[in-house]
Amino acid sequence: MHFTGTVYRNPYWPTWPLLEITQGCTHNRCKFCTMYKDVPFRMSPMEWIEEDLKELAECDPDARTIQLLSANPLALTFDRLEPILVMIHKYLPKIEYIYAATRVTDIKNKTVEELKKMKELGVREISLGVESGDDWTLDRINKGYHAADILEQCHKLDEAGIDYWMTFLNGVAGREHSRDHAVNSAKIFNRCKPMLVGTGGLTLFPGTPLLDEAGRGEFDPLTEKEMLEELKLFAENLTCDCSFITHHTISGVNLTGSHFLARKEKIVAALDREIKNGDLDRMAEIRRSKRTL
Ligand code: SF4
Repeated sequence: MHFTGTVYRNPYWPTWPLLEITQGCTHNRCKFCTMYKDVPFRMSPMEWIEEDLKELAECDPDARTIQLLSANPLALTFDRLEPILVMIHKYLPKIEYIYAATRVTDIKNKTVEELKKMKELGVREISLGVESGDDWTLDRINKGYHAADILEQCHKLDEAGIDYWMTFLNGVAGREHSRDHAVNSAKIFNRCKPMLVGTGGLTLFPGTPLLDEAGRGEFDPLTEKEMLEELKLFAENLTCDCSFITHHTISGVNLTGSHFLARKEKIVAALDREIKNGDLDRMAEIRRSKRTL
C-alpha cells in the first residue's frame, strides 16, 4: 500500500481498508494544525491507486466500506474523483460506503448533480472539519472560509442526500471571543442538517502558529474549566437532531451517542457538574500529554 507520512483516519469509521487518493492538505494553513506541515498536497498517481486496490482486492475482497485519505481527498474535482470511485467498485464490488474527511471548501467545486452521482458511487458519509461558525474565529484561525460558505456547501450536501459530520473546536477562539464562538457556531450548525456533531478540545501543539502566539501573549488560551463552560454554552444553544460526540473526558459520564436533543438536558447537566466538581488538574495533565491530534 502507498501511504505518505503519518496516516490520520477517523477512528469512528471502520478503520480498514484505507485508500490514499491524495496526499497532504490543500489548505495547510490552519493555525492550530501541523498534521500535514511537511507533506505538499497532490493527487496520488492513478497507478498507485490501482496497485493499492489490487492489493486490497486480494486481502479483503468482500470489503463493504472504505475510507479515503488524506486530509481532504474530496478537494479533487468530480472529473478526477469519478474514475477513482468507479475503480474502487471494479476491484471491490461489495463496497457500500465510501467515507472521507474533507474541508467545507472542497464541496464548492461540485454541483448538486455531481454530488448526487458521488453518492450513487458510494460516497454516503463525509466529515467536515468546520471548527467554528463564527466569522471572527474562522478568520482568527485562518480557516479559509466563512459562515456563509458553511451554510451554502452544507445545503448542497443536504440536497444531494450525502450525510455529513460537523466539528466544533472547543477553545480555539481564545478567552476574549469564547462566547461568540460557542453561540454563533451553534447558530450556524442549527441551520444545517448534520448527522453528527463532534467536539474536540484545542490542544496547543509545538510548531503551531497558535502556540507561538500564546507565547507572545497574542492568544489567550482557555483553562480546562473555561473549555467546559464554552462546550456547555455550545450544547445549550445546539438544536440539531443529530448524534453527538465529545472528546472531553468527563468522569463517569458518557456524553457520546445518538439523539442529541433527547439527551441534551443530561449532557448539559453533566457538563455543569464537571465544571463544579471535575478533576480539572487531571484534564489539564491529559491535554499536556497529547503529542498530536
Ligand atoms: S485542520 Fe484540516 S484543513 Fe486545516 S490545515 Fe489541518 S488538515 Fe488542513
